[in-house]
Amino acid sequence: MAAYEVEGIFTDILDRAKVLDPANTREWFDKLKVVHLAGGELGIGCPDEATVRFMRTNCRDAFTRAAQQITGHLVSVDFDVDTEKKPSSPDQRAAAALRLHPDYTFENFVVGPSNRLAHASCVAVSQSLGNTYNPLFIYGSSGLGKTHLLHAVCFEAHKKSDGAVIQFLSCEEFVNRFISAIEEGNLPGFQSQFRTVDMLVIDDIQFLREREHSQEEFFHTFNALYNNGKQIILSGDSPPGKIPSLEERLISRFNWGLVARIDPPSYETRIAIVQKKARVRGLKISDDIAEYVARKVQANIRELEGALTTIYAIATTTGKDITLELARTALDGQIKLAARHISITDIIEVVTRHFDVRLTDLQSKKRSQSITQPRQICMYLARSLTRHSLEEIGGHLGGRDHTTVMHACNKITLARDADPEISALLNELTRQITSPATA
Ligand code: ADP
Ligand code: MG
Repeated sequence: MAAYEVEGIFTDILDRAKVLDPANTREWFDKLKVVHLAGGELGIGCPDEATVRFMRTNCRDAFTRAAQQITGHLVSVDFDVDTEKKPSSPDQRAAAALRLHPDYTFENFVVGPSNRLAHASCVAVSQSLGNTYNPLFIYGSSGLGKTHLLHAVCFEAHKKSDGAVIQFLSCEEFVNRFISAIEEGNLPGFQSQFRTVDMLVIDDIQFLREREHSQEEFFHTFNALYNNGKQIILSGDSPPGKIPSLEERLISRFNWGLVARIDPPSYETRIAIVQKKARVRGLKISDDIAEYVARKVQANIRELEGALTTIYAIATTTGKDITLELARTALDGQIKLAARHISITDIIEVVTRHFDVRLTDLQSKKRSQSITQPRQICMYLARSLTRHSLEEIGGHLGGRDHTTVMHACNKITLARDADPEISALLNELTRQITSPATA
């Protein structure tokens, strides 16, 4: 096939994939390149590691289906960094190892009165590690942008400070890595890994457990870094003094630097966020719809995004134009649910009962379909019915990481849209979860 033909086919595949999964479409899709298309394989080149990971986690299904529909053959799809742009220096490989989300940059972060201080302090820190606010502690309720800001700091610090060694991980990962180091008898390895960095960023520090060795270890890591003028950034769901499991000596250290709060966004900020999110996805949204969504969803930005996704998903699956009327219908059901307080335990109870599986199976490493499907459905329902973060949901289901949860949610969303039976099942489970206990 001539090169121009391959390019033409790839353009069609790209267009089809956008229609199949608008929620995971990004404006930078036009930077993707076809590397090869032959022998039932489609290789797609991405600008960097962050986009490769995003594509592999979120877009493989849509691209596979698109490729099969356009070519009429079975095609397997994979993504990799463009060979010309392959990370060559240790420095670039280190950036890849940070596993940053391509959406979570300063550029994509909308600044308003509710997050101005947190944003400004993150920008300041990223420009000069260890020299402005140290430690920097960002706190706020779930879904208000803490993780987004931490990713953005890492992106920026990496760009700015040549060769700076950055460690960025969730608190849970820190604890798990500490535990494995103990089990493997390699505590010195763990210590040198964390005590020699230029910046340590730990998300959701409220998961540090009381009276456990990991908290003690973290304390010493903190001291070693702080005394050497290295940057420390932490996030939590409350200010240091209000996190019950934290020891006094850590609380006082966290208060040495700057503690910045993020509040729920104002109406104007919410409108700007909806518009920004639509732009990042390469979607158009009229002002009246952005205003409508911003009025409907008030407390949590993750839900704001979910609302936008719902509207686009309904528009594409029904083939209708996005009007205010459609947005209204799409959101009505969803918003009512969000008002009730639902816990992950409620969800797990209903799902395990329906599928006749045990919670321990869902938490285990078992990968048979009879266990994976209920597990993924739990993740999907927890995502749509509660305000827990991907990390928190993964934590309830056997300590799985956020990319696993994201993948599960995408998979179930696709299944729901493609298969009326799944859609009916999800509705029924949702009904059982949201109606007062009857069993
Ligand atoms: P948290 O870690 O506080 O629970 P996240 O950082 O995961 O919240 O944010 C949830 C979602 O909301 C993410 O998709 C994030 O991009 C988005 N978000 C939060 N705040 C903003 C903002 N100010 N501008 C744009 N997107 C935001
Ligand atoms: Mg978070």
